[in-house]
Amino acid sequence: MDLWGREDPEDRMQEAAEKKAAAEAAHFASHDELAAAIHTCAACHLRQEGNLGPVLSSGPVPSPLMFVGEGPGGVEDDYGAPLVGPSGQLLDKALASVGITRDRVYVTNVVKCRPRGNRTPDIAEGRFCADKWLREEIRLVQPKAIVALGKAALRYFLGHEAGIVRSRGHWFEWEGIPVMPTYHPAYLLRQYGRDLVKSKWDVYYDLKEAKERAAAAAPDWVWQSETPPNLMEEFAAVRAARHRK
Ligand code: SF4
Repeated sequence: MDLWGREDPEDRMQEAAEKKAAAEAAHFASHDELAAAIHTCAACHLRQEGNLGPVLSSGPVPSPLMFVGEGPGGVEDDYGAPLVGPSGQLLDKALASVGITRDRVYVTNVVKCRPRGNRTPDIAEGRFCADKWLREEIRLVQPKAIVALGKAALRYFLGHEAGIVRSRGHWFEWEGIPVMPTYHPAYLLRQYGRDLVKSKWDVYYDLKEAKERAAAAAPDWVWQSETPPNLMEEFAAVRAARHRK
């Protein structure tokens, strides 16, 4: 929309393309069926960028709170699980600080295949994979709130470029679901000194708000397991299967 209230034809075209992609996205009866379909996906050039294949999700289905990162890194590609490397360990600590164990929330990525050299997927790559798979994950997981971890997730849900530093901590809605953008743990790993302390507090408050919002909509949800499963052990089985292929 311009200053005089006229609609931008490019905006209209993009909106129409997104609606078409959403309408064309396959619907699956269960998360298991969806996961099986994602496993064999080679629908875009990211699959040819030297990775071991699509990396799926972790966590329960349904789940009131969903975390969406940008894409698998080296450790995630090795294990076939999202956010399990140094970034994932930091995420687990951040979750613990707000009273959540990792096994009680759903974690996934905008793109499922690791881009070569761990580069950030561009907006078109993110949109293509997410329209194909993430939309359907969200439909099946039915989150009451989504945490967008970092720029790639933020811009997918916003539908345009935006900076994470300015956007973090501010709720917006994506198709009726509240979205809280915050820093990706990999960003925190690059901070030092005061910047690191401030960033960690920012993430703490963002996660606390997100949990409170999801908990208000799902008051019976149990956020902490008394004896959390050893997820790395579970992921090790996925890893072994991945390397046998
Ligand atoms: S990045 Fe997404 S769309 Fe592309 S091949 Fe991997 S799973 Fe398929």
